Amino acid sequence: MRVCPHCKSELQKKRYKGISVEECPHHHGMFFDRGELELARNNADEDLRWLDFVLFTADELKKLQHDQVSCPRCHSDMEALQYAGSSVIISKCPDCQGVWLDTGEFEKMLNYLQRIVAAESSSELAEDWKRQAIEVLVGPKKESEELKDLMAVTRLLEERWTAEHPTIEKILEVYYELTPFK
Ligand SMILES: [Zn+2]
Ligand SMILES: [Zn+2]
Repeated sequence: MRVCPHCKSELQKKRYKGISVEECPHHHGMFFDRGELELARNNADEDLRWLDFVLFTADELKKLQHDQVSCPRCHSDMEALQYAGSSVIISKCPDCQGVWLDTGEFEKMLNYLQRIVAAESSSELAEDWKRQAIEVLVGPKKESEELKDLMAVTRLLEERWTAEHPTIEKILEVYYELTPFK
């Protein structure tokens, strides 16, 4: 039986953003098994899927002094971690890599990632595009997954370019009109 790390209530299975998580019936914190948080993020916002899971990059995480809570899955002590520059706090199990999020933390995390992407200039996005294009060939994920990541960055880059240079869209329209390759 898996229990809430705070109040020890039995966790209930729940569908959240298309995946199965376990939730505390009292204060609605949620437990994500390894990899599930990334899936939930991708389902919640396709535009963010290409961001490698920055919340798990060790050097960008600050360890907090926090009440010791134990992992619902394997009972190891979880670490309270805060992502640099954000108010997002997660509890992560060092053994099974499961993550506990208190209520509201998922939305905070999503907003934070969206702000990071929105603040990128088109040249920074172009750099991200290049990185993703390389990852399609040699990346850590399956090729089909890397391609989806690349498509997501391509979409963002197109949006950013046409917003910054409205004439590009006009030029592209004319080009598509004239080109024999359709
Ligand atoms: Zn609870
Ligand atoms: Zn664990």
